[in-house]
Amino acid sequence: MTARAAAGLPGPVRETCGFGTSRTALLTADILATMATVELIHAGYIRDDSRVGSSISLIRDGDAIIIADPGLVASHARILDPLRARGIDPADVTHVFFSHHHPDHTMNAALFPEAEVVDFWARYRNDLWLDHPGDGWQMTDHVQLWLTPGHTEEDASLIVRADDGVYALTHLWWRQDRTPEVDPYAPDQAILETQRARVLAVADIVIPGHGESFRVR
Ligand SMILES: [Zn+2]
Ligand SMILES: [Zn+2]
Repeated sequence: MTARAAAGLPGPVRETCGFGTSRTALLTADILATMATVELIHAGYIRDDSRVGSSISLIRDGDAIIIADPGLVASHARILDPLRARGIDPADVTHVFFSHHHPDHTMNAALFPEAEVVDFWARYRNDLWLDHPGDGWQMTDHVQLWLTPGHTEEDASLIVRADDGVYALTHLWWRQDRTPEVDPYAPDQAILETQRARVLAVADIVIPGHGESFRVR
């Protein structure tokens, strides 16, 4: 078993993910499966003039269209224009994911009226509050939800086996330069470090909470 498989590298379909799945089997299955893409449509930031923007990502996986962290932006157009440029109407979005509950990552969820909202705890749609299995949940064929407490105790990350590598969408880091090393909001830095190591064991590319992506390998 490879280190990445041992760390829970998500498989392309539910039946092949998890322990004991060889890299070769994963690649073979990938050829047969629908592919997935990840695009950072709004690189987040934290500025001295009180401006805060969230890193917002678009994941396409088969029929699923997922928006991660539709939080603070200078205007709605910063979210909607990149989607329209790709032929995506707000009502087409099937899922909204929250890395955690701070307003800078959740503020604009209501732009997507048909989406099921997913957080560390559950899935929400209209007045439905539905359980999900939690850590390791295979949300769609190539997208897995991990519970990654650290920045807050209620953080989650998405691990996406995309065409061009394994992405982690996570607030375990804020910026492209992997700062702040010590998260001032973290209730327990040791827990955060454990989750960082877990993510780095599988990710090729990380999209942090407030910045451009960075490559791990
Ligand atoms: Zn936060
Ligand atoms: Zn944040």
